[in-house]
Order: sequence, then structure tokens, then C-alpha cells
Amino acid sequence: MSQREWIEKDFYKELGVSSSASSDEIKKAYRKLASSLHPDKNPGDTKAEERFKSVSEANAVLADPAKRKEYDETRRLFAGGGRGGFQPGAGGGFTGGGTEFNIGDLFGGGAQGGDGGIGDLFGGLFNRGAARPTTTRPRRGSDVETETTLGFREAAQGVTVPLRMTSPSPCTTCHGSGAKPGTSPRVCPNCNGSGIVSRNQGAFGFSEPCDDCRGTGSLIDDPCDDCRGTGIQNRTRTITVRVPSGVSDGQRIRLAGQGEAGLRGAPSGDLYVTVHVRNDKVFGRVGDDLTLVLPVSYGELVLGTTVSVPTLEGRVGVKVPPGTVDGRILRVRGRGVPKRAGGAGDLLVTVRVAIPQKLDDAATEALTKYLEVEKAGGFDPRSGWAGA
Ligand SMILES: [Zn+2]
Ligand SMILES: [Zn+2]
Repeated sequence: MSQREWIEKDFYKELGVSSSASSDEIKKAYRKLASSLHPDKNPGDTKAEERFKSVSEANAVLADPAKRKEYDETRRLFAGGGRGGFQPGAGGGFTGGGTEFNIGDLFGGGAQGGDGGIGDLFGGLFNRGAARPTTTRPRRGSDVETETTLGFREAAQGVTVPLRMTSPSPCTTCHGSGAKPGTSPRVCPNCNGSGIVSRNQGAFGFSEPCDDCRGTGSLIDDPCDDCRGTGIQNRTRTITVRVPSGVSDGQRIRLAGQGEAGLRGAPSGDLYVTVHVRNDKVFGRVGDDLTLVLPVSYGELVLGTTVSVPTLEGRVGVKVPPGTVDGRILRVRGRGVPKRAGGAGDLLVTVRVAIPQKLDDAATEALTKYLEVEKAGGFDPRSGWAGA
């Protein structure tokens, strides 16, 4: 996430704590929210999933004291002002001692000054600029999004799937250091490893990123050939992902640390897998319950019968009681989608009468005879019908 988003998001509000909350209070608030909003507990609830994401995002920043400090500073700096107040190079310059220089110059250094948007401004502030010892800290890798499509039954029962992904990973040759094997990066003598140099201009003393090391604080004399000193390689990797049972179409699974590699040995980002689930010819699904439609004849509904129906594991006999009404739903307990907490949902069998489109003479005769007998017995299908 970029610092740009920080000014738009109120992480404290997200966790329901005050901005002066202790780290203990934050931890407690997060645990409570995360547990109630967890996708496992709210399958298919996209609102809960969104909230879960936001809460995790907020916690990722507020639970890390360094990040929280950075976040607080960002919010303080830009509170109320927003983007409009800071237009690098557009009138918002500092004037003094006869020299005017704009914000872009201040933070981004000469090279960036010209086209510096707000992104550069933040980048300059927090990654290259002002004298903050943490600015040379390696940056965590980005989160990676990917998708996979599962069969209906795989999704219901859980499955292990291979995911092929091409993404930047730590260079295997230099293990992410960027330096040729056998050598290592050395501390930049120009900035003593801080990545920042101080310079005086007119009446002002200010800091800017070190030109020699581009603000990283270290120099690589012999860059690794395979990654040209970046420490990163594009690699196609296949990871095996265990998709838990009961995952539903559109659900997103987070795999911590499986995202993009961080620059020069920083932690990797997370991998998010969006799961698509194919339809099944027999089963439908409502939450943890499986559904299916069972065709039956009129006679079977009237007299009752037992019919063999498929489940996720083997077949079961479903008893249709005598006098069952067309469209009734029969429940087979525990034969639905396995639940993470143990147990399973139910199988809901909807009976639907199948009407023959063609009858042979014998059947026609028997049915005609039956209708007569039925009528003589006093059955009127429209008795008590409001439309009679
Ligand atoms: Zn390398
Ligand atoms: Zn330097």
C-alpha cells in the first residue's frame, strides 16, 4: 500500500480505537474483529470479506510501531490539506534568501523535481528524503493476486492445487543482495550508509537522497550478472496451495509471504488467490448445504418410495414418504459440504414430479380407469381451491 492511501484511510476508525490507543488495545481490537469477520465464519459474505481486508490492512500498519509512526506523521502532515495543498512546482514553493525551490526539489532531488506528482512527494518524504534512519529500510514485496478455478466437488471437499505464477522473486544467484556471489554490498562512504546527505543552499540546510547510492545506503561494486544488481529475478514458480473444504465461488484466500519478493532481502508480500468454482450437473449449493432436484413420478409421490441419490461421498437412499407434495424439500442431515469446524451441512433434496409425454395404450387405459376410481373415491384436486 502506498502512503498516498494513508491520508485517505482512517485505520484507527477501522479498528474502532482512538488514535492514542496502546498497542495492546490495538491488538485486542484487531483480534476481536478479525475473528468475527474471518471469511471462514462468513462464507460468501463479500461485505464481511471487504471489512476483514480493511481491518487486516489497518492492523498491518498500526501493529508495527515504525509503520504506525510513519502513518501518524503522514496523517498529521496532510490533515485537512489533502492533495490540493501540495502541488510540487505549482506555486506552493518555499521562498527565502532570494532562492525559490519547490517541494519536488526539496524531497525528490533535482532529477525528480520536474514531473513530481504527489506520489513522488510521498516517495521522497518517506523513502529517500528527510533525515529518518528508517528510510533505508528495504521495502517489503508487493502483494500478488492470482486466480484458480476449481471443480464443484473439489471446492466442497477441499483440494490441493498447483498454481503457476510468474513474479519477481529473490535472485537465486546472489540471494537477493544484488552483489556478485563472493562479494557483498559495502556501506556507501558518501552518506555513511544513511542514504541521505545534507546540503546547504542559501539560507537553508536540507537533506536529500545520496546520489552515489541512490538513497539505499549501500554500494554494489560487482553487480550480480543474473539480476543486474537489483537482487530480483522474474521467475515462474509453481506453488502448491491447499484450498480448504467449503470454499465458495469468488472467495479470496490469503497466503502469507507467497507474494512478490522484497527488494534486497526484505520480506515478501502476500499472495491472494481468488477461487472460481465451476457448476455441477447434479449439485447446487447454499452455504454449507448441498441441493439437488430429484425427479419422481406421481405414483411415487402418492405411494411413497425410497430413491438412491448421489452425495459427495457415495450414494444414500432418500425416503419419500407417502403423500409427499410435489416440490417438497427432503433433508438428509450431514451429507452437505464439510465444515472447517467439523461436521457438514445437509443435503436438500427437492422432489419434482416428472410427467410422461407419451403413454402407450395399456398405460392410457389404466390411467383413465384410475381417474374414474379416484373420482368415485371422492378426490377432487380443486376442492378448497379459491379459484373454483
Ligand atoms: Zn542476483
Ligand atoms: Zn550513499
